[in-house]
Amino acid sequence: MHNCSTVIIHCMDFRLIEKTNEWIKQNNLTDDTDVISIAGASKALAGGDKEIQNFLLDQINVSYLLHNARKVILMHHSNCGAYGISDEEEEFAKQLEDMETAEEIIKNSFDEIEVKKVFIQMKDHEGKEVEFINL
Ligand SMILES: [Zn+2]
Repeated sequence: MHNCSTVIIHCMDFRLIEKTNEWIKQNNLTDDTDVISIAGASKALAGGDKEIQNFLLDQINVSYLLHNARKVILMHHSNCGAYGISDEEEEFAKQLEDMETAEEIIKNSFDEIEVKKVFIQMKDHEGKEVEFINL
């Protein structure tokens, strides 16, 4: 069994799957990372619907119990269809707010867990050029 593994909660957006997998490799997370793909990443967790919240916490819990996951990476990106906010600054502010809410919910739900926030800045609409920013 792994000492300590990671859960990534990221947006399901197909444009970023390849770059995200590359990032996972570059960060040496290939061997022990569970990935939860969901539109808007933290959006559903922060959204206030208890059923959806519990469903997602349950998914994290599977990783927590079975793979000893003690780190959650919340991964968001610009130009996210789940948010549908055209103004870039406004979009980032809203996503950051949701990430912070999700972080709090996760930390309140698990005894010892670290939460990291990553934002993928898309340089074009296809996701050919992107930048991963640690928040
Ligand atoms: Zn998205």
